[in-house]
Amino acid sequence: MTHTLITGGAGFIGSHLAEALLACGDQVTVIDDLSTGRFENIEPLAQKPGFRFALETITNETVMDRLGSECDRILHLAAAVGVQLIVNDPVRTIETNVMGTEAVLRVARRYRKKVFLASTSEVYGKNDKVPFHEEDDGVFGATTITRWAYATSKALDEFLALAYFRSKSLPVVIGRFFNTIGPRQSAQYGMVIPRFVRQALSGEPITVYGDGKQTRCFCNVQDVVAAILLLLEHPGAEGQVFNIGSQEEIGMRALADMVKARTGSSSEIRAVPYDQVFDGGFEDMRRRVPDIHKIQQATGWSPKIPLAQTLDEIIAYFRGRPAA
Ligand code: UDP
Repeated sequence: MTHTLITGGAGFIGSHLAEALLACGDQVTVIDDLSTGRFENIEPLAQKPGFRFALETITNETVMDRLGSECDRILHLAAAVGVQLIVNDPVRTIETNVMGTEAVLRVARRYRKKVFLASTSEVYGKNDKVPFHEEDDGVFGATTITRWAYATSKALDEFLALAYFRSKSLPVVIGRFFNTIGPRQSAQYGMVIPRFVRQALSGEPITVYGDGKQTRCFCNVQDVVAAILLLLEHPGAEGQVFNIGSQEEIGMRALADMVKARTGSSSEIRAVPYDQVFDGGFEDMRRRVPDIHKIQQATGWSPKIPLAQTLDEIIAYFRGRPAA
């Protein structure tokens, strides 16, 4: 039986991974300090045989040493989630992203455990290429604009993981998540879909930033989990970076219309200028589309769940949690 350690396993993506691995018969240990993760996400797993939860930060070396020695592989998802959090609390979040990954890689090397590193499409920065290929440049703004600390910290994580692979032969696989959605994603950190759904269900205005023509591709978390599991089983993936995301592209105004229609909401759809939401100098991406040939060729993976279906799952999730 494989024993998987998931850092950040009480978070949105981590908790879905934990559930899927337990369903495959794995033993799963989650380490999470519940800074952004929620116990509620893993509560249904707590009673299952083979599941363990450590309420602890990954920079606690003693605990990480023990958990790292006991497991067969580490899926590293503990990180500051998204740009808004890093802008609100830069010291803590930069340290979490950089020192946390360093701690995970060090322990993995000590016990020679395979690592999956969760990275992000933010590492392409403001490069305006469509679609993004894994070898494309990351284009970051000035260090005086805090938002770029997120992309830079995750890029540094990737550099470090690849360095461990090249210089220390540590088996590492890097997944760059594009916009990922599904039940359990919090509306607290600015992500557009949970925000729109919450706004629509409570009758508040649905806030479309800018002209609403900027686009994203949203991938169901179950598809993302399937991609991670396939990459883990593929030895050729070691030392490599893979985009993981959907190619179903939608504009934010069209998304607002879709959420309004599927919730049956009477909310107004309100255009909000960027400068009313963000500090001056905020740069939004116009389009963000992954090139997914690499993961398709390596594993045969492609996303299966359409946006409309995922939206209905998320709407049902928030309907069941009016206070979430
Ligand atoms: N967005 C929006 N209204 C909101 C929150 C976000 O129009 O209430 C827009 C945001 O400007 C961006 C898109 O939705 O263009 C996706 O934002 P998110 O933060 O979810 O993801 P990211 O920008 O990191 O891809």
